[in-house]
Amino acid sequence: MLFLASCGNAPQAQPPTYTPDMVQRLESYTNNIQGMRDRLGELNDLIQEKDWIYADNFIHGPLGTLRQDMSLFNRNLLPQDQRQGRELAREISRHLEAISLAAQNSDYAAATKNYREMLTDLDAFLDLLPNATES
Ligand code: ZN
Repeated sequence: MLFLASCGNAPQAQPPTYTPDMVQRLESYTNNIQGMRDRLGELNDLIQEKDWIYADNFIHGPLGTLRQDMSLFNRNLLPQDQRQGRELAREISRHLEAISLAAQNSDYAAATKNYREMLTDLDAFLDLLPNATES
């Protein structure tokens, strides 16, 4: 297969690209997700204050639709981008559950560690949109 691809005669299959419609749909989900991203400082404050009940409430309240928005976003990605989107969404959910558990156990170390990791994963997730518009 490598030999055929390099000889130049075989037509190269072009991966599908995003239409303006698709990008617009993706942007509407990103707006929701970005809105939650913008409020994450509040969750960090609650963790820093060891306000465990409100920290846990924050995850299920203001961040309650994050998973749903991420999965709607992922469903609108082209197949070649979906795997990365799904992996990041799974990571983010895992960290949120870990923070929720840490809050229930008053475990400051686990809460801060998962908060930081969740932030990194969420920023990587939001980066999927510019990647989408560039292709
Ligand atoms: Zn992670």
